[in-house]
Amino acid sequence: MELKDLEEYARINNVPIMEKDGIEFLTNYIRENNIKNILEIGAAIGYSAIRMCLIDKDIKVTTIERDKVRYDEAVKNINEFNLSDRINIIFGDALDIEIEGNYDLIFIDAAKSQSIKFFEKYEKYLNQDGTIITDNINFHGLTFSNTPAPTRNLRQMIRKIHNYLKWLEDNKEYHTKYENIGDGLTISKRVDN
Ligand code: SAH
Ligand code: MG
Repeated sequence: MELKDLEEYARINNVPIMEKDGIEFLTNYIRENNIKNILEIGAAIGYSAIRMCLIDKDIKVTTIERDKVRYDEAVKNINEFNLSDRINIIFGDALDIEIEGNYDLIFIDAAKSQSIKFFEKYEKYLNQDGTIITDNINFHGLTFSNTPAPTRNLRQMIRKIHNYLKWLEDNKEYHTKYENIGDGLTISKRVDN
């Protein structure tokens, strides 16, 4: 099993794994900042968790997935890559379960309308100089589009992403940068105090 097999599976089965540029940026960030302990919300089939783990043998990832089919696929993939000792995958809804540990990085890549809730629930697990990165800020180009989204659901989703961006901007405990890479990322670094 190779990474390209996971990419192929994701494409065929419409699993929204990170875009190429996005995962490139994320893995570089982890490498450059010497990040070792990572919490991911939204494992899907384990692709990004595996990519993050492959950077360095000292990296550990805890990741949460609520969809049983994807969770089972992720467990299988993690085993195939022999990473079950470094990836702790939890089956459940991130807003319901309780976890343990301290993390250098929290990567939010789950339900796009719930980002504030994930952030508020999980920041207590973040180390003092930690970072929270959120994926899919662009929402496939819809967030910053001049033409309104075609459906009410999509418009609501976009409104929530804008709310999240405003909330991050107002959150003075973190310094947030937006990167127009992949499907758009925010990098929220805890401010020294
Ligand atoms: N990080 C993955 C892609 C994740 S796709 C990668 O890049 O490889 C988003 C996933 O988040 C979906 O599989 C979805 O089932 C899951 N998800 C959404 N909301 C969730 C929640 N509240 N708790 C746990 N998982 C959630
Ligand atoms: Mg994503």
